[in-house]
Amino acid sequence: MKLAIIGTGYVGLITGVCFAEFGYQTICIDKDENRLNYLNKSKCPFYEPGVENLLEKHLNKTKLLSFSNSISESVKDADIIFITVGTPTKRLEEEADLTYVFEVAEEISKNLNQYSLIVTKSTVPVGTTKEIKKIINKKINIEKFDVVSNPEFLREGSAINDFMRPDRVVIGCENIKSENIMKQLYRPLYLIETPIISTTIESSEIIKYAANSFLATKISFINQIADLCENVGANVQDVAKGIGIDKRIGNKFLHAGPGYGGSCFPKDVKAFIKTGEKSNVNFSILSAVDKFNNNRIIKISNKIISKANLKKGDLVSLLGLSFKPNTDDVRASTSIMIAKLLINEGIKIKSYDPAAMKNAKLENPEIILSSNAYEACVDSKALIIGTEWNEFRALDFIKIKKSLANLVIFDLRNIYNENNFQDLGFKYFGTGK
Ligand code: NAD
Repeated sequence: MKLAIIGTGYVGLITGVCFAEFGYQTICIDKDENRLNYLNKSKCPFYEPGVENLLEKHLNKTKLLSFSNSISESVKDADIIFITVGTPTKRLEEEADLTYVFEVAEEISKNLNQYSLIVTKSTVPVGTTKEIKKIINKKINIEKFDVVSNPEFLREGSAINDFMRPDRVVIGCENIKSENIMKQLYRPLYLIETPIISTTIESSEIIKYAANSFLATKISFINQIADLCENVGANVQDVAKGIGIDKRIGNKFLHAGPGYGGSCFPKDVKAFIKTGEKSNVNFSILSAVDKFNNNRIIKISNKIISKANLKKGDLVSLLGLSFKPNTDDVRASTSIMIAKLLINEGIKIKSYDPAAMKNAKLENPEIILSSNAYEACVDSKALIIGTEWNEFRALDFIKIKKSLANLVIFDLRNIYNENNFQDLGFKYFGTGK
């Protein structure tokens, strides 16, 4: 089977290298020449553990993988074409912007030579895959192609493992022929007993949004419980443990913190609310989740200012800029949003992140960068831990104490406890405790 994957971002590139690892001849296409230059040198344009090893192996040794800037050249003889371009939030309307997806569909429609499956792996609102079918059908006879929905569930930071050992694979098809091709494609995973959820295109598209919206809701739920805990002297970590041990609830995504961020949850919750609206369903639960999450960073930055008694011109250190550990992705990063709010109040932010400093600087040039966590703390009036990178989990606070101007720590991710600081004289503020 020959595969073409359009878009070499987090999802497209991981899909490409992993399918090459399964043994498929795979071509990955992107319009970003800079990105392609990196990839052709076996360099991953973003931070994701394990990608470069697979790039090196399949570009240079097995030669199963190649890159191109041309959709027209690449899709002609592809058996399966994946659309993995971005679906960001539209500027004003808070719904999914499908411009890139439809552009790619138009391009595919002009270049199909043989029967192909067109698969949406990008996260797209219900109805989109059938829209793609209509676009392609304007130029190509209905017998010459099928459309499939195959949403992706990988997480940045553990993307290769998530792709190779997923909890499930979801495929939404219109007929047995396309279903069989997809099952054949995923045979290597079927062999390790990965559940394959085979359903309609509409259900498949909804599964992706419902999953992300549910996880975002779970995060917001525990964050609101954290607020209650703070006000009444309880500990949200104990509460989370107490409820998470119940198998009906589960302990995942029950970590209180600054709110959900990243390139998926915020935009997908908003897009799902819009999908509901268009179909006369008022997703009031998700509207509350979205609003609560947006307000949370404002509440947290106000808390930091008041508890640390910060004034205009004060310097604050911020550890962690990526939206979560093990990635350099700063899209909708709560750390950066909190930094922005503090900067707006005239506070200076000095920061360190193991991987995301370059992207953070592009996002907000006013953030001052340091070469390590300790340097970021020099002369600072408060220390904020914004992202729970492993290297922040065992910091030498005796050393930090000597450089901080004010011994206040805001541990937004609860990676420490108050008793870690009792003898050191720090004022410790966790989340929900
Ligand atoms: P991304 O922004 O990292 O990458 C998108 C890529 O598509 C870019 O390299 C861009 O240059 C390329 N592109 C755009 N238009 C193109 C065109 N016409 N021709 C060729 N290339 C084009 O996006 P991503 O994070 O990989 O997300 C892609 C989709 O997958 C989104 O719908 C997202 O919601 C979904 N998703 C993302 C994740 C994640 O963790 N990032 C996880 C699951 C699903």
